[in-house]
Amino acid sequence: MTRKNILVTGGGGFLGSHLCERLLNEGHSVICADNFFTGNKKNIEALMDNRRFELLRHDVTFPLYVEVDEIYNLACPASPVHYQKDPAQTVKTCVHGAINMLGLARRTGAKILQASTSEVYGDPNVHPQVEEYWGNVNPIGERACYDEGKRAAETLFMSYRRQCNLRIKIVRIFNTYGPNMHPNDGRVVSNFILQALRNEPITIYGDGSQTRSFCYCTDLIDAMVRMMNTGDEITGPVNIGNPVEFTMLQLAGLVKELTSSRSELVFKPLPSDDPRQRKPDITKAKQLLGWTPTTPLEEGLKRTIAYFEDLLRSGEA
Ligand code: NAD
Ligand code: UDP
Ligand code: UDP
Repeated sequence: MTRKNILVTGGGGFLGSHLCERLLNEGHSVICADNFFTGNKKNIEALMDNRRFELLRHDVTFPLYVEVDEIYNLACPASPVHYQKDPAQTVKTCVHGAINMLGLARRTGAKILQASTSEVYGDPNVHPQVEEYWGNVNPIGERACYDEGKRAAETLFMSYRRQCNLRIKIVRIFNTYGPNMHPNDGRVVSNFILQALRNEPITIYGDGSQTRSFCYCTDLIDAMVRMMNTGDEITGPVNIGNPVEFTMLQLAGLVKELTSSRSELVFKPLPSDDPRQRKPDITKAKQLLGWTPTTPLEEGLKRTIAYFEDLLRSGEA
């Protein structure tokens, strides 16, 4: 194997930290660039002693000059609570961040992978979602800063491909969970687990019949790395996620059971533009990457619960 120099933007976040760890374990040198808007140094603490790991405090909306062979562009807040806190900055991170990282890829000749999202499908009219579906996004809604930002980033990636023949890859990530998730990101898995562990009411938005499909983080990272390693003719977009679909009521029940919690369920209003259902069609990922997620929700939840128990014990959540 040849050792590569790899840049991971957003490497201090939930998925980025797992990706940095995986790439270091494969023997590569990793530069992690993060402005720590939602990331946490604790996520990468264990990597800091590794001489092949380098941390840069950097905001991707500004140019970055480093010499690398591959770029994974993950920098962007991912949970609705966080990306709606400063929506203009979210758009800038998606768009200026993509422009700068594509410029970097152009100058260095690096391969570049974009962490896109199932949110490009909006509140989908096609179920399960296939890559050919163009989506149903409200361009002026509260989620638009993220959804449209990520759509514009995909457009930029394809434009640089067509104009400059850049080696690009786009993956559309569906709901992913696991250790290193931010405890206050308001996402359903972290909310339910923390509420259950504290025996506080579990907050179901709407009637809880909406669906999501949850992928465990290391399965997801495996697909991302496989995508980067495909031939230059493969650009994607490729859906990655776990196609097993659950209602939020089912998820709440499972979390309660696994934590032996006394929490009650309480019903709160559904946030605006909250998608009714979401489930990836992963036929392409199976064919192109030879990949399929292997961690069942129950198993992944157990590991995630252990992580949140640790945070509670140490007073960090
Ligand atoms: P996260 O919030 O934990 O990580 C994002 C990281 O990016 C954080 O460390 C944050 O500090 C950093 N960041 C934000 N703005 C930045 C900027 N301007 N410059 C530099 N760093 C910046 O979220 P995550 O769940 O790890 O998501 C990682 C990527 O995957 C995101 O691009 C997200 O859109 C995408 N994604 C995640 C999911 C999921 O379910 N977790 C689903 C779809 C897509
Ligand atoms: N850029 C960067 N690092 C590099 C090269 C470029 O951050 O190593 C940024 C630079 O700010 C530029 C953007 O990427 O504005 C786009 O670069 P590109 O070469 O596509 O276009 P330019 O704007 O330079 O014509
Ligand atoms: N949700 C919920 N209770 C919570 C947090 C979220 O019922 O405490 C719901 C939310 O309305 C959505 C689903 O869970 O229908 C997934 O929400 P999340 O924010 O995790 O991800 P996204 O909506 O981006 O898929």
